[in-house]
Amino acid sequence: FPTHPPTSRPLNNMALADETSRVVSQFEFTDADVNRHVQEFLRQLSEGLEKDGTSLSQIPTYVTGVPNGTEKGLYLSVDLGGTNFRVCSVALNGDTTFNLTYSKVPIPKECMVTDKASNLFAFLAKQIEAFLKEHHGDRFNSGVQRRSTRSNRQGFREEEVFHLGFTFSFPVQQLAINKGNLMRWTKGFDIPDAVGKDVCALLQTEIDKLGLPVKVAALVNDTVGTLMARSYTATGSQRSILGAIFGTGTNGAYIEKTSNIKKKIEGEYDKSTGEMIINVEWGSFDNQLNVLPSTPWDKALDAESVNPGIQMFEKRISGMFLGEIVRLAIVDMMKNEDTSLFKDVNSSTNDWSTTTSIGAKSGIFTQWGLDTAIMSVAAADSTPELSSLRQALENDMHVYNPSLEDAQAFKAVANAVARRAARLSAVAIGAIAIQTGKLDDPTEEVIDVGVDGSLVEHYPFFRDMIYEALRSIDGIGTKGADKIRIGVAKDGSGVGAALIALVAAKMDKSTETLPQAFK
Ligand code: BGC
Repeated sequence: FPTHPPTSRPLNNMALADETSRVVSQFEFTDADVNRHVQEFLRQLSEGLEKDGTSLSQIPTYVTGVPNGTEKGLYLSVDLGGTNFRVCSVALNGDTTFNLTYSKVPIPKECMVTDKASNLFAFLAKQIEAFLKEHHGDRFNSGVQRRSTRSNRQGFREEEVFHLGFTFSFPVQQLAINKGNLMRWTKGFDIPDAVGKDVCALLQTEIDKLGLPVKVAALVNDTVGTLMARSYTATGSQRSILGAIFGTGTNGAYIEKTSNIKKKIEGEYDKSTGEMIINVEWGSFDNQLNVLPSTPWDKALDAESVNPGIQMFEKRISGMFLGEIVRLAIVDMMKNEDTSLFKDVNSSTNDWSTTTSIGAKSGIFTQWGLDTAIMSVAAADSTPELSSLRQALENDMHVYNPSLEDAQAFKAVANAVARRAARLSAVAIGAIAIQTGKLDDPTEEVIDVGVDGSLVEHYPFFRDMIYEALRSIDGIGTKGADKIRIGVAKDGSGVGAALIALVAAKMDKSTETLPQAFK
């Protein structure tokens, strides 16, 4: 950073305060907006149950029951769907508890955007191999010593083979418990070669090339895994009705009556429970923008994304996008000559782009250059001097010596973007709570919702803001909101995928029919 002599140009903080209010007001999302969105969400929810090709995909998962905590065994699960790839082994103890071992690696950009699907899936198989060597060396080495070639599961005994639950958190047309074709990529992934293909087969092929003792037994969306995991660990008789992710992306899976989805279910499934878990794919709620708010920055973000016009709800809610909305708004505010935001007070030129106090390494002028994590720092800092936020602006965003007014403006914009995101999240949760019909049922004391993801975990007061909006929904109100219990299902997708792998392993291996309910 250059070293600066004391201030030599007057700052216009009044203009900055006005500009901040102007920007903040565009992210307002009133109680009336919440209610209008809930009505539209319910409409699109029903439409998605009726037919294919609607904005809410409403994908039947063929999972017709949830676990009860007594399930046992050691399973592998892997999780692809955000910034990191996770490999876990999960020991289900059968008493609602589990032990989980995992490793996590960031997914290299060249595997996310590439023309060959095998680039990504070979990378995933290599991580599984490294994990097995490190954490399950005994079981791995015994088979390795017995084998003569390194292909498929040659050399391994049946009981040495791991059943793996594959959490793949993208829209997939599920065809069987371990078979599903990718419908489209989301969250910045772009590998056209994989679209329309069975992602389990893609992974199994690469696993077999390495000769690992692993069978891809189940394909699971992270929201379904979260719902499973929450039900496994929930104590008491209240099972969860919804699993939701508010992380890099956003989505939910809920329990629906099979009588409401008859038209979409093909093939065999267990009819004994009368219910099936539906993967809503709510990231694409209202792609047509019947109701969703669109600021100039929402529009700019969408236009520059790899999937314009798609995942419009997600682009206003989830961690991958919130930082970018804030960044675009902040850059616009900096362009305003009248305001002092991040201005280098010593500069003698009037060109906004050369008068900033922003270092060359800053991400402020680069797409995706603002990490959503700094928004949590802003929300958590309630000191009068905003010292931790100013520190983060300096260290992470390379803003030279940010003033209190700079930090206040940044915080106000970041908070407004996050608040709108939380209230939009409440739209989805509220609509599904209404859809289940349990709000008015006096025999249902609690409506349990399992959530996971960086926003609910790390963004201060995200859940409080969701509750505040839930209370404003007609048909929910304070009484209904009190009945809705939103709890974090930590490691949900890892445990959930293991649970579904367990069901799959128990199924008739020869026919590989669709999953049965947990008994
Ligand atoms: C995907 C969903 C996933 C969600 C949360 C979305 O982008 O389409 O399948 O559940 O992200 O990870």
